[in-house]
Amino acid sequence: MGRVYNFSAGPSMLPEEVLKKAAEQMTDYEGCGMSVMEMSHRSAEYEAIIQRAESLLRELMNIPDNYKVLFLQGGASSQFAMIPLNLMTKSKKADYVITGQWAKKAASEAAKYGCVNKVASSDDKTFSYIPKLDPSTFDKDADYFHITLNNTIYGTRYTTLPQTGDVPLVADISSIALSEPIDVTKFGLLYAGAQKNMGPAGVTIVIIRDDLIGGAMEGTPTMFDYKIHADNGSMYNTPPTYAIYMCMLVFEWLKNLGGVNAMYEINQKKAKILYDYLDSSSIFRGTVVKEDRSLMNVPFVTDSDDLNAKFIKEAKARGFVNLKGHRTVGGMRASIYNAMPVEGVQALVDFMKEFEENNK
Ligand SMILES: *Cc1c(COP(=O)(O)O)cnc(C)c1O
Repeated sequence: MGRVYNFSAGPSMLPEEVLKKAAEQMTDYEGCGMSVMEMSHRSAEYEAIIQRAESLLRELMNIPDNYKVLFLQGGASSQFAMIPLNLMTKSKKADYVITGQWAKKAASEAAKYGCVNKVASSDDKTFSYIPKLDPSTFDKDADYFHITLNNTIYGTRYTTLPQTGDVPLVADISSIALSEPIDVTKFGLLYAGAQKNMGPAGVTIVIIRDDLIGGAMEGTPTMFDYKIHADNGSMYNTPPTYAIYMCMLVFEWLKNLGGVNAMYEINQKKAKILYDYLDSSSIFRGTVVKEDRSLMNVPFVTDSDDLNAKFIKEAKARGFVNLKGHRTVGGMRASIYNAMPVEGVQALVDFMKEFEENNK
């Protein structure tokens, strides 16, 4: 069977070139006589891989020298605890904006360690917009201010960042990392599970400003202390070696394609194809207010659950898979991460037009 167009929200599709390269190197990595999976993480060969992954990411995201890049495990979900354990240590207060399930989970985990101030929420309209923020509601003594930059489930993204002054801005960038330029200097900490846009599941990337490292609260498990991982070059224990190698291949692919700015152009084009069609369709419509639409995750519905189900089924038969929406939104969601080619989105829209014609 040929490859399908996979619109999964995560783990999600990877560039075919990357998969082929990994397949080529599967049993013998560059003449080592072994797979990357079989290597000691302390070997010179592996050291070169993790260092290359880090330097490529630094180059792609323009990460300044006063930030550490950490390759951790436990998913973005572990960061929901690791962030307060390490940062919620002075006033023991933090501001959170609630823009979806992930933000909610992050806030409720933080509430175990300190005082969470929910600055704003878009819960009233099923998280279909990014709330307008009023800086007078921000806590000036907060240890940090947390946002989810792109909301994977609901398909919204911030287009302007909150002005938090001296309060470090912390962002979950799981589903937006490397899809558009992000000015790292505006943040104290950025984190992402790799399986949306960077590589396979198993590695979580944390980008953290130096001054935020080293203040973990008493009782913090060793493995949850950023300083331990920073001091040991993400090698305090065995890192997820193969997942990091796969990320390295994705970073190489992205660099060869022209980097994040070139990718952003392509992503804007892809999103426009799909949103323009949704705005003109008589049966499908997007669920998010226009100004906050995500370029990565596009939820859409028809007015009938039966028609939604029919669409998902027929799409699957035609090789467009994983289009079922999250249960809290219903309908469909097309995740169109970096690895999804323009042709994939165009083919989906062509199929949607055909479906519309047959089901008006
Ligand atoms: C997928 C996702 C998560 C959860 O990631 P895990 O790696 O499964 O813990 C958190 N935040 C966002 C924005 C996500 O898209």
